[in-house]
Amino acid sequence: MYRMEQKKVLHIIASLVLVIMTLSISGCVNILDSSSQTTPDVVEGRDIEIDVIEGDKVDGEEDKVDEDKNDDEGKGEREDNEDGDLDIGGDRQDIKLVPYSGPVQHIFFHPLIAYPELTFDGDAQEKGFNDYFVTIDEFNKVIQSLYEKDFILIDINLLIEEVEEDGKKVVKRRELMLPEGKKPLIISIDDMNYYEYMRENGMIYKLILDDKGQIATYSITPEGEERVAYDNEIIPLLDRFVERHPDFSFNGAKGVIALTGYEGVLGYRTNEIDSPNFEKEKEEALLVINKLKEMGWTFASHGYGHRDAARISLEALVKDTERWKVEVGSLVGPTKTYIYPYGSRVLPGDPKFQSLVDAGFQILCAVGSQAYEKMGPNALMQDRRHIDGIGLIQQRERFLDLFDSYKLIDYDKRPEKYLEGIKK
Ligand SMILES: [Zn+2]
Repeated sequence: MYRMEQKKVLHIIASLVLVIMTLSISGCVNILDSSSQTTPDVVEGRDIEIDVIEGDKVDGEEDKVDEDKNDDEGKGEREDNEDGDLDIGGDRQDIKLVPYSGPVQHIFFHPLIAYPELTFDGDAQEKGFNDYFVTIDEFNKVIQSLYEKDFILIDINLLIEEVEEDGKKVVKRRELMLPEGKKPLIISIDDMNYYEYMRENGMIYKLILDDKGQIATYSITPEGEERVAYDNEIIPLLDRFVERHPDFSFNGAKGVIALTGYEGVLGYRTNEIDSPNFEKEKEEALLVINKLKEMGWTFASHGYGHRDAARISLEALVKDTERWKVEVGSLVGPTKTYIYPYGSRVLPGDPKFQSLVDAGFQILCAVGSQAYEKMGPNALMQDRRHIDGIGLIQQRERFLDLFDSYKLIDYDKRPEKYLEGIKK
């Protein structure tokens, strides 16, 4: 654990530097934030900070990052390989539930690279996408590996319960009861907002409902054609995987969709409140949101403006949280989950921590290199592991409990220059 100690020291140093910087540049949040886009690790002192990519401009700025597209080539069928062993979940009555006391894995992705030729086109954002995003193929293989290792998706809200103690409501960690032999897994997807920088760099444009009311993706292909598909984004892919392998989901749970608000949600520009399309965008977003809930997906706040909670002022954080509730919470409904942008965090004792708890958040998720959770005052603090190019390419050993990344890297799609040193 020498590395952990080392990280802690780095973190402390980084925190001190930040305090000094903040004192001397108070008010220049955006400047600080944009600098973090290139040096997230240094700033945070933590290992990963995936989110860096998205930038966090609340008011009118945009972020850069992204990925591309990959299309379907045959991925839809991949899961069938082992259809032989699916279907345990068919009759839930037969499944024996037992207490689970081991670690709870929480992993996260960004939206998938749907069109790699747009992502890996040599532009200034290419490296960011290579670092923080995965392709369709990589996602499918990660899921397959997790399934084979007996993970089962759970609803993140199962982790906590509110109980009454001395006339007060208290949030406690709940004991998990899971099918025997299964290990709990939470998947979250950050920034499923389909920011402009994502669309330009190979991601889909939005989630839609098809004419049967099912979730589909809408995108513009590199050839400029409109396309409706089911095999180029996490939501429909995971929905379909669970259909084929019901025992990969406990009571139909899927994942957590973490949304900001500054460029709308799910590809709908619900932030443009003065636009003539506003009502229509909102209505369509709501239909998709309701369908997602029906399919077992839940939502989390990822802040309104993708601000770094550790670095902005208490007032800024409170304002950002309130704005999220007004513009996003009003669409997705109440949520207890807060997913810090930039893998940042604030700790109990910090008024900013309390402000998130006061806003109703009871599960606060940061980023870390392994499963980690701790109960704070009326909130569970949890780390998530980043599944992205950095993890797959540079940190194979760290993820071997979940998958062997070298066996699933999309060698044909990612530029060779980013893959040096890998033994296929
Ligand atoms: Zn983010």
